[in-house]
Amino acid sequence: MEQPLEHPWQPTDGEAGTAGADDGGMSENPYAGLVSRLRAAWLSRRTRPLEYRVAQLEALGRFLEEKKQDILEATALDMRKPPFEAEFSEVLLCKNELNEALNNLSRWMKDKHVDKNLATQLDSAFIRKDPYGVVLIIGPWNYPIYLLLVPLIGAIAAGNCVIIKPSELTKNSEKLIEEVLPKYLDKDCFAVVTAGVEETTRLLENKFDYIFFTGSPSVGRIIMTAAAKHLTPVTLELGGKNPCYVSDTCDVQNVARRVVWGRFFNAGQTCIAPEYVLCSVEMQEKLIPALREAITEFYGSEPRNSPDFGRIVGDKQFRRVQALLSSGRVAIGGQTDEKERYIAPTVLVDVKPSDPAMQEEIFGPILIIITVANIDEAIDFINSRERPLVVYAFSSNSKEVNQVLERTSSGGFCGNDTLMHVTLTSLPFGGIGFR
Ligand code: NAD
Repeated sequence: MEQPLEHPWQPTDGEAGTAGADDGGMSENPYAGLVSRLRAAWLSRRTRPLEYRVAQLEALGRFLEEKKQDILEATALDMRKPPFEAEFSEVLLCKNELNEALNNLSRWMKDKHVDKNLATQLDSAFIRKDPYGVVLIIGPWNYPIYLLLVPLIGAIAAGNCVIIKPSELTKNSEKLIEEVLPKYLDKDCFAVVTAGVEETTRLLENKFDYIFFTGSPSVGRIIMTAAAKHLTPVTLELGGKNPCYVSDTCDVQNVARRVVWGRFFNAGQTCIAPEYVLCSVEMQEKLIPALREAITEFYGSEPRNSPDFGRIVGDKQFRRVQALLSSGRVAIGGQTDEKERYIAPTVLVDVKPSDPAMQEEIFGPILIIITVANIDEAIDFINSRERPLVVYAFSSNSKEVNQVLERTSSGGFCGNDTLMHVTLTSLPFGGIGFR
C-alpha cells in the first residue's frame, strides 16, 4: 500500500532538535545543537539520492587509500599493532565492506514488491528501504578504525546522517578520525565527537534515531538504558567467550596454526577470537607441543621482539589480563612486562570452569585448554554457558563439525578455521544476546 511514511522521531512543535521551552533540559546539552544540525540536514533529504551516497562512500575509500600509512602509524602507536595485522583488519576489511556497498547499493535501495492477497490484487504493495535518520555510532579501542568505519559504511549506504564517537583509549586513532576523516565527508551530515565517559553520557541524552554500539556488555547496558528513554532502536555488538572444539581426528599441526593465528592476532584483543579449546586429554597432549611450535613459527622464540605481536592497550587492561594468568597452570608462555604492557602468547591448562579466566572474557593473549571426555560433553559445556559470539569446531569428519553446529547456538560459526568468516561481507555478523 502506498502510504506516506511517518517517522517516529518527527519533531513536534517546539521540539525541532533545537532548544525550546519544552525540551526536557536539552537546551543545556552541549551536543543538542550538533544533533539538531544533522537532523535538519537529514530532513533536507540530501543524503537520500544514490549519487550522494556513492560520492560519500567513494570519499571514505579515498580516506582509506590516502591515509593508510597514517592508520598503520596511529594503531602502532596506540597498541603496537603489527603492520600486517593493521593493514588486514583496519584497512582491507573496511575496503571489502565499502566495495560490497558500492557494488550493491542501487539494488539495495530499490523497493521490494511483495505478494498480495485477493483483496489487494489491484494495489501496489512493497517494502521501502527508508533511512532511520540521525545515527550514533560508538566504537571500542581494539579495532579503532574498522569498528567505526564498517557501521559508518552501512549507515551512509542506508542514507543516514551520522555522529561517530571513537574510543578515547586509542588516542592516536581517535585523533586521526577526528582531524582527518571529516575532511573527506560532508560536514553537514557526518560528524565526529571525541568524548570520555562523562561527555558520552551527555551525548546519549540526545534523541537519536538509531544507536550502533560496539563494546563491553556492561557499557552495552548503559547504552540500552539511555536509548530506552527515547525508545531508540539499538544494535549492541558486545563481548564474547568463544569455544573451540577440537576432535581427536584432526591434523594437529593444522589446528595449532589456525588456533594460534586466531587467538594471538591483535594480542588476543579480538571479540571473535577462540578463547578456549575443548578436547580430549590425548589431544591436549598432542596439541601443546604443536601450539608451541606454531607460536615459535609465527612470533619467533622470543615473541616480545617480534614485529608481528602486539601489546595490551592500557595499564588497567594489562593488569586485568595479567591477573587471569593465575587460573590453572601455564603450559606455554606466561611471561609479562608491565612497562611494555607485554603478555607472551600463553596457553593455560587445568583451568576449572569456576576460575576467573573462565568467568570473564579474557580479551588478551591467553588460550585455555579444557579437557572433555567426548563431543557430547563439549557440546554440553558450551550450552551450559552464555551463548558465544562464535563457536569453532575442528574435525576431519564433517559430520562432527555439523553436529557442533546443529547442537549449539551462537552468533556465528566457523568450521576448521578461525576468524575467516568475518572476511566474508556476504555473511551477517553479530551475537545473539545473553541467556
Ligand atoms: P567499552 O564498553 O569499555 O567502550 C566502548 C565505547 O563505549 C567507547 O567508545 C567508550 O568511550 C564508551 N563508553 C565507555 N564507558 C561508557 C559509559 N559509561 N557511558 C557511555 N559510553 C561509554 O569497550 P572497550 O573496552 O572499548 O572494548 C572491548 C569490548 O568490546 C570487549 O568486551 C569486546 O568483546 C567488545 N567488542 C565487541 C565486538 C563485536 O563486534 N561484538 C567487537 C570488538 C569489541
